[in-house]
Amino acid sequence: MNTLLHFQLKKELEDILGSEWVRDADVDIHPLIVDTWWATRMLEKNNLPLPKSEFVVQPAIAKEVSALLRIAQLYRIPIIPRGGSASDTAGSFALDRGIVLDMRRMNRVIDLDTTSQVVTVQAGIMMSDLEQILNAQGFTTNHLPASMYCSTVGGFLSTRGSGVLSSKYGKIEDLLLSAEVALPDGSVLRTCPVPRSSAGPQLSRLFVGAEGIFGVFTEITLQMFQLPEKRAFPAFAFKSLDDAFTAGRKIMTSGLKPAVMRVYDEADSRKMVQPVLGDVGTFEGLLVLGFDGTAEFVDLEVKIASEMCRSAGGTSIGEELGSKWWNHRYDFYYPPHTLESSSYMYAVTYTLARYREAPGLYRDLKHTLETKFAEHELEFVAHFSHWYEWGMSIYPNFIVRCPPEDPYEGYSLFIEIWRTAVEVMHRHNGTINEHHGTGFKLGRFYRDLEPERFELVRKVKTALDPKNILSPGMFGLEV
Ligand SMILES: Cc1cc2nc3c(=O)[nH]c(=O)nc-3n(C[C@H](O)[C@H](O)[C@H](O)COP(=O)(O)OP(=O)(O)OC[C@H]3O[C@@H](n4cnc5c(N)ncnc54)[C@H](O)[C@@H]3O)c2cc1C
Repeated sequence: MNTLLHFQLKKELEDILGSEWVRDADVDIHPLIVDTWWATRMLEKNNLPLPKSEFVVQPAIAKEVSALLRIAQLYRIPIIPRGGSASDTAGSFALDRGIVLDMRRMNRVIDLDTTSQVVTVQAGIMMSDLEQILNAQGFTTNHLPASMYCSTVGGFLSTRGSGVLSSKYGKIEDLLLSAEVALPDGSVLRTCPVPRSSAGPQLSRLFVGAEGIFGVFTEITLQMFQLPEKRAFPAFAFKSLDDAFTAGRKIMTSGLKPAVMRVYDEADSRKMVQPVLGDVGTFEGLLVLGFDGTAEFVDLEVKIASEMCRSAGGTSIGEELGSKWWNHRYDFYYPPHTLESSSYMYAVTYTLARYREAPGLYRDLKHTLETKFAEHELEFVAHFSHWYEWGMSIYPNFIVRCPPEDPYEGYSLFIEIWRTAVEVMHRHNGTINEHHGTGFKLGRFYRDLEPERFELVRKVKTALDPKNILSPGMFGLEV
């Protein structure tokens, strides 16, 4: 952008927010221009320039977000909503100049309705801050992802985030009652105050998982729950992973409601579980369950689920390991224990499939990646963490110990591994991702593998944002 235009735009942004809340890209805003995917680390390691934004702006209220969108329209400059920047899909930074809309100043609780157990917040509130406020009043959202300390409510809704209790409470979208959204033209939409209305389509859903391309969440109303009287975490060891899958599926389809249902494969128990919980033994399948609610009900659910595990070939390893797992549930990711060196190439090739297809998908993915990329010493470990009545998610990490020295060759290998992975997922009716979103990183695969859905997304995008100013380049759309 030429200097005069830059000065003029900066002045207009400052007129909206005040100079304190507008920053040029020239100042040190490094944490605001990258996210957690491997490629930005690779660029840094090779002293290559990181993607640059023109400005970072920090609004406090929805009216300011609207005004900023209008200015972006006038100047035809991209504007990219950003929460805690913990995503790993290149969804929250400017790919090619633009204004980064840092939402973290919009962090207030607006209304706490304890009668209906509903809370309304500004979209930039950190999940952990919201939980702390609710816990003090005896409530919780039960949305407890590992990144709750570094991600916002708006970010989670935009990527369909999932927490450790998802098997009972669902993903964040299942908590959503209504939302206020600033549209690309600067107008503000308030969706129906309650869901389940049959007066028209449920418009809030248009923005869930849309990674900011259709509008910016400014206010969000979520359901909340009372803190449970009791939590219990029985754990079971299985001689085969298939037996652990069978136990998990039978429990999930029985009408029981485990809040935690997590299976680790042998490699992941070694890589993820042992560094945190110590030597718990070597099992082909390790299943950690969690139940919460009133004490009487929890005890009954544990009893029934334990019988189901035993009849599927599981051996109880008591509740101590499970409780330890619960107390350390975030420690598995800080640092990720699968990564012993910062020079490794890595990614989580998250996917989701029905019970009929998921075990085959997992085996095919592991075999294909480990075989095809053997010369790069690709290692594949997985756990299975978010379960539904009809299927389960697969959380595989791939780790490449000796990626090519040359950055472009490294990038090409990364893309090739992903392409191979998403093709396997697609073959087994799995999704390209489960709860980290698609962003720029996976957008091209969405465009290639899901052309009808991509085409409809493109049409909606063109209708709402004809100048393509809001987060261009996501989902394989025009940059
Ligand atoms: C160590 C670690 C552990 C993680 N664990 C989990 C986990 O357990 N569960 C899970 O779901 N995820 C997890 N993640 C991923 C990450 O936390 C999620 O993708 C999260 O949803 C990102 O939220 P954020 O606030 O950080 O958003 P960002 O990363 O800043 O943005 C993510 C996307 O949302 C868009 N966006 C942000 N705010 C808004 C808004 N107000 N309106 C519209 N669009 C917006 C951005 O444009 C971008 O496309 C983890 C990440 C890390 C680094």
